[in-house]
Amino acid sequence: MAVGESKAEAAAGEAAGRDFIRDIVAADLTSGQHKTVVTRFPPEPNGYLHIGHAKSICLNFGVAEEFGGRCHLRFDDTNPTREEQEFIDAIARDVRWLGFDWGGHLYHASDYFERLYEWAEHLIRAGLAYVDDQSQEEMRVNRGTLTEPGRNSPFRDRSVDENLDLFRRMRAGEFPNGARVLRAKIDMASGNINLRDPVLYRILHAAHPRTGTEWKIYPSYDYAHGQSDAIEHITHSICTLEFEDHRPLYDWFLEHLPVPSRPRQYEFARLNLTYTVLSKRVLTKLVQDGHVAGWDDPRMPTIAGLRRRGVPPQAVRDFVKRIGVAKANSVVDAGVLDFSIREHLNKTAQRRMAVLRPLKVVIENYPEGHDEDLDAVNHPDDPSTGSRKIKFGRDLYIERDDFMENPPKKFFRLSPGAEVRLRYAYFITCKSVVKDDKGKVVELHCTYDPATRGGNAPDGRKVKATIHWVSAAHAKTAEVRLYNPLFNKPDPAGGEGFASDLNPQSLEVLKDAWLEPALVGGNSAEPVQFERLGYFVADPDSTPERPVFNRTVGLRDTFAKEVGGKA
Ligand code: ATP
Ligand code: MG
Repeated sequence: MAVGESKAEAAAGEAAGRDFIRDIVAADLTSGQHKTVVTRFPPEPNGYLHIGHAKSICLNFGVAEEFGGRCHLRFDDTNPTREEQEFIDAIARDVRWLGFDWGGHLYHASDYFERLYEWAEHLIRAGLAYVDDQSQEEMRVNRGTLTEPGRNSPFRDRSVDENLDLFRRMRAGEFPNGARVLRAKIDMASGNINLRDPVLYRILHAAHPRTGTEWKIYPSYDYAHGQSDAIEHITHSICTLEFEDHRPLYDWFLEHLPVPSRPRQYEFARLNLTYTVLSKRVLTKLVQDGHVAGWDDPRMPTIAGLRRRGVPPQAVRDFVKRIGVAKANSVVDAGVLDFSIREHLNKTAQRRMAVLRPLKVVIENYPEGHDEDLDAVNHPDDPSTGSRKIKFGRDLYIERDDFMENPPKKFFRLSPGAEVRLRYAYFITCKSVVKDDKGKVVELHCTYDPATRGGNAPDGRKVKATIHWVSAAHAKTAEVRLYNPLFNKPDPAGGEGFASDLNPQSLEVLKDAWLEPALVGGNSAEPVQFERLGYFVADPDSTPERPVFNRTVGLRDTFAKEVGGKA
């Protein structure tokens, strides 16, 4: 408790960054149960990480950091048929990008294959595991259901010697895929299906990214996971709620194996987001079936997609902090993520001008062939970022939306006869409209008031609108990609039906955008605010001739509108 702070204030301050996991860790350190906290983030390298994983990463690495412990990065690489080096590299890159460091503590479940194998023999010798020759289908039928107990396998009472012999021959590669499995001998009548003689090893003649063709059998996730934690002396095995029912099995292993430590598992609620699917199976399908351009498509909820969209890592961490850690499942409004991004970028992003859907403006009374430099501030709330020069000339582009030929009453921007302010520049008045032969407005002729340089009239007259613009002679042409939610339902189908909930308007490409020259070249990795439009970042598809910008997020909450204006 800080000096002068009341008890309640201290409690409230603590509550802001606290949750039940942090409470447990704090209590374990205070009671001396543990001297130091060791956590881990255990991804399976079968896809890219998504925003849900970010929650788990921030929790595991965050707890370790806050309590002076350490967090391991461990690849749970027990299924070589779905795992790839590309995913291993992407996962490490994304965790680092989020701002976390595992130091020297990079591990793989495959580092423990030999020890896990020895422990399987240990269970066989103790009469606690057996080789089962039943087919997959027979095993499924005999497992029973939630209401019916399972039936013992006819192979359940094999002798220790026979089991050892068969298991060793499984390892030696004598049998084809699926011919046999090793199972724990627990209780086929257990109310918890996870305890009905779960599979420990299966035969799989498949090359592994790390162990090559050395192994013909691979441990199941359930068998490898908890033991890997024990080997690494993890103190708090933090995982999502769906593993709550697996905890009795993990504890059974800890009880019957000579493990060097006994981690305790705590379950928290996984992140669910509206308009978003966070299932690796579905994300893989989106990529494989070409619904998106790749794992890092800015519409994807992957870390790589968020990064390419221009989302700073700090905004992801802010988001995770904002939503907290709870024991009950819930769904977070996708607007909360956008809010976190917007709030962060509002503070950090420099302001620039760009026109996405151009309409040409000719300032009739501005001298032809002339131009001038005007001052534009880089950030209105941060004078240390200074200002830059922007070119003004006779030909400009403004946003097509900022003009209406027959405006309704409340439209204060440009229309015939109306006067508006051009940001950082002058007041202009629309004098006439040029149309093409189909009647489409293609150009506006305006006049400017030279006395209003910098945006204020010496006679004190006011205008009701300020619009952005670029100088046609100086602006650079660009492609701008606008992203909308990938799904058009707040709760898209998470399984096979996902494709019918895809939003056909999730990507809008604007090929005729114009940027102020300061946006091109230089340090383009930083997101900027296009004034009045939103936050944008240069895409890696950019070339020197043709910059490409992604919209990171708009200036206003679009989700609030879609879900009924509850903002
Ligand atoms: P799968 O195991 O089906 O391939 P997964 O999303 O569980 O998919 P893992 O690589 O096993 O992927 O996940 C690594 C860690 O991230 C796990 O500890 C898991 O609990 C956690 N995690 C996964 N999805 C979420 C989520 N939506 N919210 C919070 N944590 C998550
Ligand atoms: Mg998993």
